Amino acid sequence: MFVPDEINRLIDDGAIFYISHSGGKDSQAMYTLLRDFVPSNQIVVVHADLGEVEWEGVQDHIIQNTDHRVWVVKAKKDFLEMVEKRGKWLSAAYRQCTSDLKRGPIFKFIRNDLKKRGATVAINCLGLRAQESSSRAKKEPFAYNKMQSCNGRVIRHVYDWLPIFHYTTEEVFQTIDVAGQKPFWAYEKNERLSCVFCIMGCINDLRHGAEQRPELYKKYVELEKKIDHTMFMKKGKPISLEEHVGVKVS
Ligand code: SF4
Repeated sequence: MFVPDEINRLIDDGAIFYISHSGGKDSQAMYTLLRDFVPSNQIVVVHADLGEVEWEGVQDHIIQNTDHRVWVVKAKKDFLEMVEKRGKWLSAAYRQCTSDLKRGPIFKFIRNDLKKRGATVAINCLGLRAQESSSRAKKEPFAYNKMQSCNGRVIRHVYDWLPIFHYTTEEVFQTIDVAGQKPFWAYEKNERLSCVFCIMGCINDLRHGAEQRPELYKKYVELEKKIDHTMFMKKGKPISLEEHVGVKVS
């Protein structure tokens, strides 16, 4: 793995590496790589709990595959509540779910944890990869996070680092294998893992979700009807989840 010189310098300076762990393959691979060269007392693993919309057992999977304590943070609201309140599903262009349910609670945790430790430098480590999408490919793999940093009476420097930014999917699975671990069981059928029914999920993953979590699937289908707005569009027209996924609620 390529490690920028800046990272080695920050390790020597005592920076705290906050590893965001969703339970997905990318976070898992990233963790196994980082634990090999970042001193253990400078690693903090944090998971944003998505409540009922995340895969059951994902938190146990993280705990079983990490040597560190796993800190679980949770937003006050949850995904389905957010949608119902808005009266609209979120979309790739408007991913308030990611910012409010994941990023926000994790940064809040980082700020508080740094303060508790009396530390001033945080590296926010994310398992995002260029191969995932064209918008992700445009990201900087290492950048100073101005918004989360502050210089004044309180000094805090936060950096965003994407350690596996250039990894292919194959390399990610290989990394997990080399570490003697297995990815979360849902990867037997899923391509990606996060919310069981992601607003950007492919039909394959949504269908697998409907098979594994029929009661949750029913909630999504019913919510579409209640707010009269569909999660997906086809050729510019709304398409119901049942039609899109090809699974009828029984
Ligand atoms: S996995 Fe999808 S639906 Fe869930 S928070 Fe992320 S973008 Fe939103």
